[in-house]
Amino acid sequence: HEPGGRIGAARPGVYVISGPTAVGKGTVCGRLKALHPEIFVSVSATTRNPRPGETDGSAYWFVTDEEFDRLIAEDGLLEWAVVHGTHRYGTPRRPVEEAVAAGRTVILEIDLQGARQVRGSYPMATHIFLAPPSWDELVHRLEDRGTETPEQQQRRLRTAARELEARSEFDEVVVNGELDETVDRLVQLMRL
Ligand code: 5GP
Repeated sequence: HEPGGRIGAARPGVYVISGPTAVGKGTVCGRLKALHPEIFVSVSATTRNPRPGETDGSAYWFVTDEEFDRLIAEDGLLEWAVVHGTHRYGTPRRPVEEAVAAGRTVILEIDLQGARQVRGSYPMATHIFLAPPSWDELVHRLEDRGTETPEQQQRRLRTAARELEARSEFDEVVVNGELDETVDRLVQLMRL
């Protein structure tokens, strides 16, 4: 790769990171942010309940259905979708626009439906699909996380099967086997 590519400011750009449930999107984005605090990782609004340890404003802004309705009404969301057929998730528009205007590298960790909507707002965005090493491994990660009921897990796996079929819509596919390798690959892709 380019000499000195890792030195200096990040190359600005919008990066969409999608992938099936429990593939490790949150962990990967958290690691990228820790390594490169100059990047802007968007914090979504969601109507789902916090998991143990999730605090408001870290993983998500946890909002009521009424608050989510209001965000939509005031055009406050860049994109939003009903994910896994239950809860709504959306990207607050203003912080992303400000980060793009400031020339920061922006990461949107969103689902496939949101990724498709972002193509309208940011046609130049790079779409990255985070894939599991295998289907069995994905099932294990979801079970090990243990934050969903068996019914919710089944629902998430049905969505995951559809999402895996859509990976060809993405500019890059990164297999999340070993975390450090995944992060290295993303750092390279994003020229951080
Ligand atoms: P989880 O409930 O496991 O945190 O997330 C469920 C799914 O919602 C994941 O696929 C995640 O990428 C997606 N998601 C999280 N935030 C957003 C968002 O702002 N917009 C969209 N469209 N999907 C999101």
